[in-house]
Amino acid sequence: MHQSKIDRRTVLKTAAALATIGLAPATLRAQAIAGRAAKALPARGEFVIRGATILSMDSGVGDFVRGDVHVRDGSIVAVAAEIAAPTATVIDARGMICLPGFIDTHVHLWTSALRAVIRMDDPKAGYFPVTNRLGPHYTPDDSYRNVRVGLAEALSAGATTVHNWAHNVRSPEHADAELRGMRDIGLRGRFSYGPAQNMPNDQPMDLDGLAKINREWMPNDGLLTLGINSRNVGSDPNPLRGNVPLEIVRKEWGAARALGLPITLHTSGPSPITYLNDAGLLGPDVQLVHPLLTTAEERRILKERGVSYSTSPVGEARRPASAGFIQFAELLEAGVKVSLSTDNASSYSFDYFAAMRMLYALHQHRVGQRVPLSAKRLVQLATLDGAIDLGVADRTGSLTPGKRADIILVRTGDINLAPAGTPYEALVGFAQPRNVDTVIVDGRILLRAGRFTALDHAEVLKEATDTVNALRTRANWT
Ligand SMILES: [Zn+2]
Repeated sequence: MHQSKIDRRTVLKTAAALATIGLAPATLRAQAIAGRAAKALPARGEFVIRGATILSMDSGVGDFVRGDVHVRDGSIVAVAAEIAAPTATVIDARGMICLPGFIDTHVHLWTSALRAVIRMDDPKAGYFPVTNRLGPHYTPDDSYRNVRVGLAEALSAGATTVHNWAHNVRSPEHADAELRGMRDIGLRGRFSYGPAQNMPNDQPMDLDGLAKINREWMPNDGLLTLGINSRNVGSDPNPLRGNVPLEIVRKEWGAARALGLPITLHTSGPSPITYLNDAGLLGPDVQLVHPLLTTAEERRILKERGVSYSTSPVGEARRPASAGFIQFAELLEAGVKVSLSTDNASSYSFDYFAAMRMLYALHQHRVGQRVPLSAKRLVQLATLDGAIDLGVADRTGSLTPGKRADIILVRTGDINLAPAGTPYEALVGFAQPRNVDTVIVDGRILLRAGRFTALDHAEVLKEATDTVNALRTRANWT
């Protein structure tokens, strides 16, 4: 009796502590099952970023050669040349560029630790053979650890929002583990629930599981949102990740829409756009990924239906020319919403500067001045356009008073940028993740002077190493 009283008190105390950082009771239960306690994230305080070169990505606010950003309780209060905020802590940002954090609109975080196995120069150990073979061996804890190591890297590279494209949801517990991984790192993000690796094409994803996850996690404190990812659709005879018939698409998309959830879909291989449009399935809640093989008529349809397209330049540039080229210029000309993504952190690293640089290089190589492309337009693609794609531009994507404080500071005194020219040129032409000094998400400082404030680097690394070694053993991968 005495013991149970103590237990109940301890549980209540823990629940109260966790409630202060925004955890639902159902989340608490799931966490207790996994036996893992979440570390508290840094508190949201009041601070003023002083003396930075500010790129607001909001035409109403404009840019400042030297200016201040005032943040209180997670919200941007003001952006101006000089702000008096006597009670605020000062972040000295002289010599730094201050801009909205990067928004990664498509990344498969569950594969992050598999970089230890995947080979770029051995087709038998390429991304698809490895993820197809090891994917079925994932436990929820493997999912959690992969998400954590991937997100830790994304954070250090300046991401403040990610769209976690989870196409290995082997059970609702796997989805729960990925969401906990996202919540524990503290980034903003969409979790797109999906099927499991190697699931038969005539079998829908676990839609009861989707409803359960929606019930238990949404709405939360506004940092995490939910959607679904769909397997490929259409006539590709050799699909890399399934190729589902129309009745399965209708079932899965219908279930998502009944819950008000958005949908995302790869368009690798022959384009399914006309097929989906004829079936009446396209709308502004659909995001497509990899704009490589669309026709002018299909781009017209995308514009008309309000569909967005995410491009992952670093990965797409590795594909053979027969797979198509990145149609960024064509999408801009057609007025289709476009955004930037990494795709995976198991074949190359999270690097939004490299992604902008690669897209610029490919654009110049194929299109050139026929469609002028500025460095500022690319920074907009990596920030505000991502927020528009993910439907969160009301709260992030620009340094606008009233929006949540998702902000990064990039040092311009480092040897690879200095002496810096225009800030946009410095970011797209020269910057690297190691120049990211500070990352703030929802008013919480998660990276400062290039170091994690709430994350044990060694622990995350050990967890990731252990998990990939165990997966390799279970899958008998030599
Ligand atoms: Zn992808």
